[in-house]
Amino acid sequence: MAVRVEGVVQGVGFRPFVHGLAGRLGLTGFVGNDSAGVFCEVEGDAAAVERFVTAVRAEAPPLAVIEEVTVTPRPARRDRGFAIVASEAGPEPATLVTADTATCAACLGELFDPSDRRYRYPFVNCTHCGPRFTIVADVPYDRANTTMAGFAMCALCRAEYDDPEDRRFHAQPVCCPACGPRLRLIGGPGGDPVAATAGLLSEGAVVAVKGLGGYHLAALAGDAAAVAALRARKHREDKPFALMVTDVAAAARLCRLAAADVELLQSRRRPVVVAPRRPAAAVAVAPAVAPGNRWLGVMLPYTPLHHLLMRAVGAPIVLTSGNVSDEPIAFTDDDARARLGGIADGFLTHDRAIHIRTDDSVVRSFRGRPLPLRRSRGYAPEPLRLADAVGRPVLGCGAELKSTFCLAKGRHAFVSHHIGDLENFETLRSYTEGIEHFRRLFGIDPQLVVHDMHPEYLSTKYALELRGVDLLAVQHHHAHVASCLADHGERGPVVGVAFDGLGFGPDGTIWGGEVLVADLTGYRRAAHLPVVAMPGGTAAIREPWRMAAAWLDAAFDGEPPGDLAVARRQGRRWEQARTLARSGVASPLTSSAGRLFDAVAAIAAGRDRVNYEGQAAVELEQLADPCERGAYDMEGLDGAELIRAVVADVLRGVPAAVVAARFHRGLAAGTVAAVAAVAGDAGLDTAALSGGVFQNAVFLEAVTAGLEAEGLRVLVPTRVPPNDAGISLGQVAVGGAR
Ligand code: ZN
Ligand code: ZN
Ligand code: FE
Repeated sequence: MAVRVEGVVQGVGFRPFVHGLAGRLGLTGFVGNDSAGVFCEVEGDAAAVERFVTAVRAEAPPLAVIEEVTVTPRPARRDRGFAIVASEAGPEPATLVTADTATCAACLGELFDPSDRRYRYPFVNCTHCGPRFTIVADVPYDRANTTMAGFAMCALCRAEYDDPEDRRFHAQPVCCPACGPRLRLIGGPGGDPVAATAGLLSEGAVVAVKGLGGYHLAALAGDAAAVAALRARKHREDKPFALMVTDVAAAARLCRLAAADVELLQSRRRPVVVAPRRPAAAVAVAPAVAPGNRWLGVMLPYTPLHHLLMRAVGAPIVLTSGNVSDEPIAFTDDDARARLGGIADGFLTHDRAIHIRTDDSVVRSFRGRPLPLRRSRGYAPEPLRLADAVGRPVLGCGAELKSTFCLAKGRHAFVSHHIGDLENFETLRSYTEGIEHFRRLFGIDPQLVVHDMHPEYLSTKYALELRGVDLLAVQHHHAHVASCLADHGERGPVVGVAFDGLGFGPDGTIWGGEVLVADLTGYRRAAHLPVVAMPGGTAAIREPWRMAAAWLDAAFDGEPPGDLAVARRQGRRWEQARTLARSGVASPLTSSAGRLFDAVAAIAAGRDRVNYEGQAAVELEQLADPCERGAYDMEGLDGAELIRAVVADVLRGVPAAVVAARFHRGLAAGTVAAVAAVAGDAGLDTAALSGGVFQNAVFLEAVTAGLEAEGLRVLVPTRVPPNDAGISLGQVAVGGAR
């Protein structure tokens, strides 16, 4: 019987696994690698062959991702035993590079076993765990092409590496205290670097810690002064910090965890999991960790170094990206010393280089499934499987904020790690170098390049400068909906709801509150939020009070009530903004849902300026009283009606928490009604939700529940974020379908 296995099955210990399995079942035959995956032939007792085929899928090694198992009858060969045969060289790169993976149970056992030769060795790893994507410089995936190249294996490690029966067979980063990287603490006392770092942290220091994809900054989470110092030195005013805790029990003391949260926390991907905080968390977590936030982002240790450190510290620590403000995370040693020198009191570092900067992934669970907020370390570069193969290789260039790119060939879409906001030179360089890196790693030479319609996005400019490729511009919100479809392996048509900050519309206005009838090949704009001015253009993004001025002007026909606090706070600037909005000068028109949230945050909650993207909407969500059952009326997507209701309550002195809740519930009900109407007209039974606004848990839950009550099936992103990080996948899906 010939059995062929496709997916991520190379470099993950698949052949030794098959070898062991066949041995246990008493089967003869062989197994090998070729360009399409793993091939094998097995012979023996019919029931045993059947068990083999089931087990190949069910018991595969942890890092394997099995996409397809095909079984074809073959004439008997009468082999004597079972052999691992030489790889058949193909035209394609032989091995898919897998994602970085949290330390496995077997390696953890060694790490804390005093009799093991890797006892307390911070770089222990094996075929089933350890660094991958972040240390690979080139293909083929061999040690010589990783940042482990400079470390020659000792005889003991070499023996493990060469033994098909060993857990470290062909594990490229294999090493030990005798031959591998070493840890050291710069700027602290001598002795054991881990113990000394724990000492520094307990004294209130900020320590830079070299992780898998870059440097983190660490501080004791319960130490208010240390957390405040970290915020001040990092120039990060309000954005929440992520925490690392020792184990699931420690996480459960801080947050209410759903079963899906526990699964995500403990998964080999080890993302930051955002979950509702418990009141008791105040003991171990200073308020400055996540100011005014009902949620906390927590993660478990994912490298041996983190395990050692967390055992030594024994309390939650802040573990946030090693950068200043919005810069990319530092990942080279020199750069880290230069940029973090003024922030960190010490550096816990080592001599294994990081080749690719990769941030922590961030996920929240929604109705038992993951809702990614940032897809990066632990996920990238694992391919996503498309519903249909792309005819020719495609590159999706993504958008501008939270940017990613996506390369696709056949049915594989490789969505990049989180690159960041393409507004500084350093990030743009990561973006262009990242595309080249992925092209080499996966052997994809794109012939079709898909980009956003926004002419000023640096990703658009990058696409337009390419030569010898076909170009395709895809509308931003169509890409959002297509991303959600591709996420679920579907083609549509659906009623797509794309609510976000801003995206370029083909009519010259800026879209962002869109209901589209869409499939992968095209879309029709079926409904949208009213169009209002953004007085001052991008200034209106940084200053939500400007959106309040524009929305009030629109909702009250130029005569808003005179005694609103939001207007009083701005004094003369208020009138200037209104004049600007009416004149149309430097005031682009937008139907953005994000900007509507901004306006309400300014009117009801006094949020006039933001320190990070989306802050006003995030705070409005956090403010919303979960017990409030009222909702403002909204006929379809008439945002003006909503604004008038907000104003009436604010003038009556209704608490901001109640106004925020009624606004969320009203906008959700209006959206549901609009979508249901469009679905009825178009004869569709499925809605797809996408866009950054759906990161809002309160709004997402209300819209999903409402649509389901209308009898609609609801698609919510589960593999790529609903925000602009998902755009590149949507572009590729549209490009492939056209
Ligand atoms: Zn391991
Ligand atoms: Zn060694
Ligand atoms: Fe967007």
